Amino acid sequence: MSQPEKIDLVQPARARVGNLIQSLPPSGIREFFELVIGRDDIISLGVGEPDFVTPYRTREAAIFSINQGQTSYTSNAGLLSLRKAISKYLADRFQVEADAEDEVLITVGVSEGIDLALRAILNPGDEVIIPEPCYIAYDPLVQLAGGVPISLACSEENGFLLNLDDLEKLITPRTRALVLNYPCNPTGTTLNREEIERLAQIARASEMIVISDEIYAEMTFAHKHVSLASIPEAADWTILLSGFSKAFAMTGWRIGYASGPAEIISAMKKIHQYNMLCAPIMSQRAAESALTEGMHDMEQMVEVFRQRGNYIHSGFEQLGLKCVKPEGAFYAFPSIKETGLTSQQFCRRLLEEEKVAVVPGSAFGPTGEGHFRAAYAASFESIDRALEGIYRFLSRL
Ligand code: PLP
Repeated sequence: MSQPEKIDLVQPARARVGNLIQSLPPSGIREFFELVIGRDDIISLGVGEPDFVTPYRTREAAIFSINQGQTSYTSNAGLLSLRKAISKYLADRFQVEADAEDEVLITVGVSEGIDLALRAILNPGDEVIIPEPCYIAYDPLVQLAGGVPISLACSEENGFLLNLDDLEKLITPRTRALVLNYPCNPTGTTLNREEIERLAQIARASEMIVISDEIYAEMTFAHKHVSLASIPEAADWTILLSGFSKAFAMTGWRIGYASGPAEIISAMKKIHQYNMLCAPIMSQRAAESALTEGMHDMEQMVEVFRQRGNYIHSGFEQLGLKCVKPEGAFYAFPSIKETGLTSQQFCRRLLEEEKVAVVPGSAFGPTGEGHFRAAYAASFESIDRALEGIYRFLSRL
């Protein structure tokens, strides 16, 4: 008599991590920097973080607030005094009108702002156009919010600029939003008034919301930064995101802000009140002080970045690396196509052989392949040593 088939009573283990999260690639920057962490023999032009510490005046404002016992939650939207300071700052510097009461939300960095904006506006399956190469968080955050990222390649031949004709071709009835970043991480390019005005018309005509990440607005060297939200046609369609991490050298304080139509800001606040409650009060106090007393400190740092940008650009040109002139932010994005190496190979070997850390262009999307990103958030001396290392490396290829 044949034996009855044995029934396996042990259920197969259920995956403990959701499918979507499993499918997301790790950050191409972080992955690379695992190799660098804990090593002090590396010259790093890798991380997009100012090498300045937060100016003393700003730190002191936070210390003072803590000493006064200000350690509580704030309103979900953030301290009204900070929102008022931001509203004034946006009007004075960028001619953006934002009511502090209901059109400004304090977020935990621009990172949270991007997430909130996407989750507030997207329905499942909505398409979001992302010009690329781009900041590494956009694509995964669109997916996490249930949207479908649609990549718009910005070619090197066009100076990595956003081609508005190409953008129009990608707009379909499913298009819900565009994630814009200018000045751009990683290419250092930006948009001028004419381009912004045309973009405003496209957004309005196609009823497409533009999440405009202008975190590097103060670090615009080519011309005065024109905020999309300052163009009347675009105001109803723009969620302006900015923050203190870069120009004010405040990465660790985690303060950003969103401004836009009250209806959208209120929707973003709804999510923020559940997942974050509010940004830390001491950081909000520091940010308020940065805007009211620290503008000169910020401008001095930005001037140093401008000089370094010119310096590193001419350095790359002298090495024979084609490089679009940085117009803003603190990144240069030279081409290494002529070396015949992929950007991963180039950066790994440069790190191993010359102890110089830069980020492979492929981390910022397929259009970034054949390039590396150098963050000139480092001293002139470090930039010199990095350029020397790259020179020796190139000479051996
Ligand atoms: N947006 C861009 C374009 C960035 O480059 C960065 C950081 O590198 C962020 C947002 C994140 O900024 P925050 O520190 O305010 O979260």
